[in-house]
Amino acid sequence: MALLFYSQYDDPADWKKHLCAALPGLDFRVWPESGDPGEIEAALVWKPPAGELRRFPNLRLIVNLGAGVDSIVKDATLPAGVPIARIVDPEMGRMMSQFVLAAVLRHYREFVSFARAQRERRWHYIHPREAAECSVGVMGLGSLGGAAATELARQGFRVRGWSRSARQLADVETFHGEAGLAPFLRQTEILVVMLPLTPETENLVDARLLAMLPRGAKFVNVGRGRLVDEDALIAALRSGQIAEATLDVMRVEPLPAESPLWDMEQVLITPHLASVGIPRTAALQVAESIRRVRAGQPPLNTVDPQRGY
Ligand code: NDP
Repeated sequence: MALLFYSQYDDPADWKKHLCAALPGLDFRVWPESGDPGEIEAALVWKPPAGELRRFPNLRLIVNLGAGVDSIVKDATLPAGVPIARIVDPEMGRMMSQFVLAAVLRHYREFVSFARAQRERRWHYIHPREAAECSVGVMGLGSLGGAAATELARQGFRVRGWSRSARQLADVETFHGEAGLAPFLRQTEILVVMLPLTPETENLVDARLLAMLPRGAKFVNVGRGRLVDEDALIAALRSGQIAEATLDVMRVEPLPAESPLWDMEQVLITPHLASVGIPRTAALQVAESIRRVRAGQPPLNTVDPQRGY
């Protein structure tokens, strides 16, 4: 079986090493060297060029090289009937939890205020609070959001979580659906967004939602930029409704040079890297999905294109 790899971010040599170790004999091809299109049966891709996957008449599996599938499910040129799988990997969850924890700790321990005070040569004492006095709300309690919420709870924060359907998570107070949104937000001091981008969640974080947070709340987005009405966020940062933000994802990436977000000292911008697919561990599930598809079974971690995640 031949597999085609496409990504502008991930290292093909690393994926080849781990996938071929898990599936000896795998014919691993890196785009654009795809060879005979009829031989390609699996594609391991991140944001492939539109229409590209249609060229392979015997394609039986598409694996998205990450957890977020918004770009692939909205691609109308994908070959019909080919299952789409995504990476769901505890190591990816760990990397995401580390990023979220770093961002939350930076806000909670007032590092943003201290950096500002240092620039002004000002000794600025703020008496530390216990983590149990700080409430952190996580929107999205899936493979990554659930892992991050659990890690925050382990650090002693008062953790609240919001999802589409009811979820139970140890040491996390959970809310769900439209009815649960206002009660979830009203007592959230640091909001972490880790939702998938779907028609239902696009622009969910708008002026109305931001106004439901307590004044001076802090905001972390590691989901997708299009979940957020960026103009509303900028207005909330200017008014002080949102005191500080960490933004790993933007509506347009790279963030355009003219965006006012670049100049806001209370905003930290990171270039969409909170978590990535890790070949060493994730190759095992990709290999298993290939084995399953060969045996006529559904792959692991399939995505529901209708639901969008
Ligand atoms: P999952 O699909 O495992 O979980 C999604 C969660 O969001 C679920 O709890 C789901 O609710 C909830 N959700 C979905 N739609 C809604 C809605 N309309 N209202 C309320 N809750 C909703 O996703 P992951 O945890 O694996 O990943 C989350 C996202 O993180 C990805 O989609 C991607 O966009 C982003 N990501 C960002 C990365 C980065 O580097 N910045 C890296 C990897 C991913 P329910 O439990 O009811 O299904």
